Amino acid sequence: MVQPFVNEPLTDFSVPEQRAAFEQALAEVGAQLGRTYPLYIGGREVLTERRTASINPSQKDQVVGYVAKADQALAEEAMQSALAAFETWKRKSFAERARYLLKAAAIMRRRKHELSAWMCYEAGKTWPEADADTAEAIDFLEFYAREAIRLGEVHPLVRIPGEDNEQHYIPLGVGIIIPPWNFPLAILTGMTSAAVVTGNTVLLKPATPTPVIASKFVEVMRDAGIPAGVINFVPGSGAEIGDYLVDHPRTRFISFTGSKEVGIRIYERAAKVQPGQIWLKRVVAEMGGKDAIVVDREADLEDAARQIAASAFHFSGQKCSACSRAIIHQDVYDIVAERVVALAQSMRVGPAMDGASQVGPVIDESAYRKILEYIEVGKTEGKLLAGGGKAEGNGFFIQPTVFGDVDPHARIAQEEIFGPVVALIRAKDFEDAIRIANDTEFGLTGSVFSNNREHLEYARQEFHVGNLYFNRKCTGALVGVHPFGGFNMSGTDSKAGGRDYLLLFTQAKAVSEKL
Ligand code: GLU
Repeated sequence: MVQPFVNEPLTDFSVPEQRAAFEQALAEVGAQLGRTYPLYIGGREVLTERRTASINPSQKDQVVGYVAKADQALAEEAMQSALAAFETWKRKSFAERARYLLKAAAIMRRRKHELSAWMCYEAGKTWPEADADTAEAIDFLEFYAREAIRLGEVHPLVRIPGEDNEQHYIPLGVGIIIPPWNFPLAILTGMTSAAVVTGNTVLLKPATPTPVIASKFVEVMRDAGIPAGVINFVPGSGAEIGDYLVDHPRTRFISFTGSKEVGIRIYERAAKVQPGQIWLKRVVAEMGGKDAIVVDREADLEDAARQIAASAFHFSGQKCSACSRAIIHQDVYDIVAERVVALAQSMRVGPAMDGASQVGPVIDESAYRKILEYIEVGKTEGKLLAGGGKAEGNGFFIQPTVFGDVDPHARIAQEEIFGPVVALIRAKDFEDAIRIANDTEFGLTGSVFSNNREHLEYARQEFHVGNLYFNRKCTGALVGVHPFGGFNMSGTDSKAGGRDYLLLFTQAKAVSEKL
């Protein structure tokens, strides 16, 4: 009997022993940089000639590891392994499959700081961000294990005389898992474990910038005893194997988290029924955001400013939940703007491995260029109040940047930048603020800072986002507590970490027997 779910505690880095333990993990991981990692297909490690070098974004000339790269032939081999493994894996009970997740959670807990340290090096996550990522990965394993057990129980149907009726949930088949680099352990673990615990087998194609931590996940699942062929690890390029696998007639579903552009591409391609394909592919797609924090006239303005800064700049704004617009009542705009600027300027930007850094680098060269271009656009669209360019260091560092008096229809107020840039927008009144907040193609997260009950109730109804928060930041959804996923171009509202999530990877079968 498993205990009720509780969230994994975060590490308190103000405790000297905890800091020392984390330093130690960083040193140990630092001594392992530059190794080579294989593909994993049908329970077999495969090394390829071609490899991708994973770079530390805090220190551009440091290679975190070299990861083998799958081509179409290897992707096909992985598909065949997954198809073969499905025949036995689908017959296991939910409870049996859940035990692999519980075991994996225990292994991750033992390796917690080590896994976080890998993310400091590979994803440019600061200590608390990396620690939260690992904690969330553990949460997903623990939560989905329990959800699977619940799904495997008898689901009562309306009784009629003379018949015995029941409904149960069966898996879909082989899935392609395409996770993002920004939560390279947490979201990858959640997406993969949900698919396999429900009886599917998968091909896991990690995000190009973060294949080493992905390989560590595979290692954890192998140590947990996951049978051969259930999880196949196939790093490779989107153009080369991503499209091939999305198009494959035996692919049953695709679970994707990433940019809107790639999400739309997958959705369109998956809709095309290929010769020999006997189902409609299911697509779970979690995409971008242009998330707003609304500040009312009656609100704790100091707290609002702090939470705007935290939501906009932690992990350099590279979260689909990040605050990229702060929509502020005109009567308090100047006060809030001044505080956000002061906080942005006080944040320490530096290498993620350094415990003193509050803002690390952005993920890679192309993100760095794109964000700096957006900052130049911002200079023509709004008033530059803080930051505005590169920050010092041998990595992809960008200053926390604040633009004031931005028009709600400006590009920097409409397009997802995915960097440490926030646009401040003046609103005439509260209703105007909510109207501006909704005036975007996205609908992922949003916050309202207000002490006015009527305004909060108005926002509860009218603010059209999948995750709405009152008087707190708009990032940091907790598994089981804040089921996560958004509306419109933010995706299919899959609600990761919620009670409906596993259903996305199953189909229901009703069996009726005349007695
Ligand atoms: N779940 C994360 C949060 O609430 C964001 C996930 C993402 O950026 O993909 O901050």
